Amino acid sequence: MQRKKKAIVILGLQWGDEGKGKFIDFLVLSLSKVSKLLVARFQGGSNAGHSIEFNGRQVVFHALPSGMLEKNTQNLIGAGVNVDVVSLKKEIEEIKDIAPWWKENLFIAKEATVVVPTAKLIDNAQEKARGKGKIGTTGKAIGPTYSDFYGRTDDLSVYEAVDEDVFKKRYEEIKKSHLDTLAKKYSFEIDEQELRNQEEEFFDGIKFLRTLNIVSSASFTNTSMKDRQLFAEGAQGTLLDVRFGSRRDVTSSHTTSAGACVGLGIAPQSIGEVIGILKAYATRVGSGPFPTEIGGTRAYAWSGNHKRADEENFNYDINDADPLHQEIALRTLGREYGATTGRLRRCGWLDLPLAKYAIELNGVTKLGITKLDILDTLDEIPVCIGYEGYDGVDMDNLHNVKGIYKKLLGWKKNTRGLTSYEELPKEAKDYLSFIEQELGVPVAFISTGPARDEMIEKIPII
Ligand code: GDP
Repeated sequence: MQRKKKAIVILGLQWGDEGKGKFIDFLVLSLSKVSKLLVARFQGGSNAGHSIEFNGRQVVFHALPSGMLEKNTQNLIGAGVNVDVVSLKKEIEEIKDIAPWWKENLFIAKEATVVVPTAKLIDNAQEKARGKGKIGTTGKAIGPTYSDFYGRTDDLSVYEAVDEDVFKKRYEEIKKSHLDTLAKKYSFEIDEQELRNQEEEFFDGIKFLRTLNIVSSASFTNTSMKDRQLFAEGAQGTLLDVRFGSRRDVTSSHTTSAGACVGLGIAPQSIGEVIGILKAYATRVGSGPFPTEIGGTRAYAWSGNHKRADEENFNYDINDADPLHQEIALRTLGREYGATTGRLRRCGWLDLPLAKYAIELNGVTKLGITKLDILDTLDEIPVCIGYEGYDGVDMDNLHNVKGIYKKLLGWKKNTRGLTSYEELPKEAKDYLSFIEQELGVPVAFISTGPARDEMIEKIPII
């Protein structure tokens, strides 16, 4: 029997927005030069988003795997993904001209669940009902669609959707049940015309889905792995994992490396490398515990009540003695604002206890550090090395912990765009070595700017 190549899984170790997109882009490009690739998404859906630069053009991928722009790369939307056919169709329309091979290279798992229009209404109704405690979902119905799947109630599989007769019957059943829930549980008023418009787009999307390569996730992946390198790309971040994140303030899927197994149909032993992406500081969007938040509750209140435009004219110093001002300065420097919503990302210092927790959960073998350049002007950089009176991490108690910080010396030099480790200032190397030692995992890559080539490859991945 032919030996399979071991898979590489890449995922974020914090609350998402770690800058995974850039590493994924970089690795797909480098790996595709030496090996035939299968790039796969294993969880989430169109609630993810990362931009890929292609010949100076920015392409945003939501549900599509990141290998779509490479001619010889196969791409799989795995069993664990929720497929929004409307958004998928639009995404494909956008790349057709630059990826004429898209059709033969894209595969959709028949076990994946299809997002139906009424699930989006349920998403809206649920967020409204949560009132102040709302999660801040993207409104793409990813959560309700997983609920339907795990509840074995109103879920529609890709397999069912591609059969015209089965689809008709199943869709009507699901719609009826959803409308019932909306009326009885949420007293939600439906805009009939709006729903009809959405259905029209949806039916178009289903027709389109029927023209794609529909495969069985596990057998396709395991067969393809005999001569291709599987590169599984995570979305969101480890601390947003539905099981091991901070309860309810999370996404609705398994964002850890185990998610790649259940979301694609591969065995744990077939994973060779788990690359964990860690931003040199921390950010979190929306509510939920954030022990290292700079400025604490004051900053949290600020970020909930302001938008990007409110901060545009501020010019606070990153070394400002007021933590709220310092947080705003870090956010401005790091451009930590939601790409479409303009929402402020809460900013904090690197949290090593949480990073250790994420490394353990995933079995991380190598680290990629992003946005080191954003810390260039700090006099000193606090790093959280533990919590007062506490060993390790208890996600249920994360609201109450108080961080213990070690202050490392800032380098006060420009690192933006550096490509060799030797060129880094001594204090920057010390910062990275400290992270490596505390976490016990080698740093393989360091990102020093947004562009693909602003990258230090300290340890080659292959
Ligand atoms: P993702 O969801 O994990 O891919 O993260 P985002 O989409 O939020 O990406 C983070 C943003 O930071 C993007 O606009 C990147 O271009 C940018 N970025 C990524 N790495 C670096 C870096 O090392 N330095 C700087 N200055 N920007 C970066």
